[in-house]
Amino acid sequence: MKKPLVYVTRNIPTELSKAYEEKFTFFCWEEEETPVPREELRKHLQIADALICMVSDSIDKLLIKDADHLKIIANLAVGYDNICIEAAKSRGIIVTNTPDVLTETTADLGFALLLATARRLIEANNFIRQGEWKEWSPYLLAGADVHHKTIGIVGMGRIGKAMARRAQGFGMNIVYHNRSRDEAAEKELGVTYVSFHDLLNQADFVVSVVPFTHETKDMFNSHAFQMMKETAVFINISRGGVVNEADLIHALQSGVIQAAGLDVFKEEPIQKNHPLLQLPNVVALPHIGSASVETRTNMWKLCLDNVAAVLNGESPKTPV
Ligand code: NAP
Repeated sequence: MKKPLVYVTRNIPTELSKAYEEKFTFFCWEEEETPVPREELRKHLQIADALICMVSDSIDKLLIKDADHLKIIANLAVGYDNICIEAAKSRGIIVTNTPDVLTETTADLGFALLLATARRLIEANNFIRQGEWKEWSPYLLAGADVHHKTIGIVGMGRIGKAMARRAQGFGMNIVYHNRSRDEAAEKELGVTYVSFHDLLNQADFVVSVVPFTHETKDMFNSHAFQMMKETAVFINISRGGVVNEADLIHALQSGVIQAAGLDVFKEEPIQKNHPLLQLPNVVALPHIGSASVETRTNMWKLCLDNVAAVLNGESPKTPV
């Protein structure tokens, strides 16, 4: 009997896929530098039984419409805003993601980005490498304190809570906003629920960890930046779509807020000449929230487990 075909939009490490090779045929897009062209993907999806895709692949209605044999779309990410869930549902295709396994790693990156932005680490590193360090001086590259300040976490979910645990270690006052109050988190982590408005008013560090949905689209806009402190640092480790980037640029240029640390952007990869990358008070990263070797391996494994379960007629571990 013909083995089910699993299409993977990047090279899957063979040491991970080999355990499944007796049962499934893997077909991978092998170029690391360029994403699979849409036409190529469409062609493969017409015959594939399973798809393992990345956050950068847009799996839209039209692609799903032609995917006659597809049973599962396994996203190598916890966010799934790159997939048209309704189209998948209407065709009975299961969508899975990779929650939990990336939570701590993403929070590590979030906190690293917060520290790097507050303490101007990238500017300082560039300064020393460019031979500009002539003399010690009291306010040379002086940044903002992090310890004992107020952090405002927008999205107190898995990663939000992991950020809160890190903030506790820095003696920070922690406020949060969700659509619904999380009393268990309040008890466990000593965090305080506030309205979005109050969070923006109170926080020295505003951290976005919400999923990208029609509700969160552009939630950080000029109105939101105006409500923040002039000294506020904005950190985005969720999705670029939650920010109105034109408004953020204006806020950073005109001193409405102090600085921003961004792991995600509206258009990815962001172009080198993008105005955000010209601002000295921006620390920018290429969407590497969960990019540790250990965590990426665990994310692949979870995708493979989900694919194997669905192709064996069982329930996947982490359905969306
Ligand atoms: P999660 O556990 O589902 O947490 C999301 C939180 O956001 C929940 O507490 C939810 O609470 C809140 N939320 C949802 N919609 C909201 C709204 N309209 N207003 C206010 N709060 C809202 O998800 P997670 O695992 O922590 O991941 C969060 C997001 O991080 C993912 O969706 C993904 O986009 C992003 N992420 C990025 C990276 C990266 O590489 N930078 C890595 C991993 C994840 P309520 O339902 O009560 O509102």
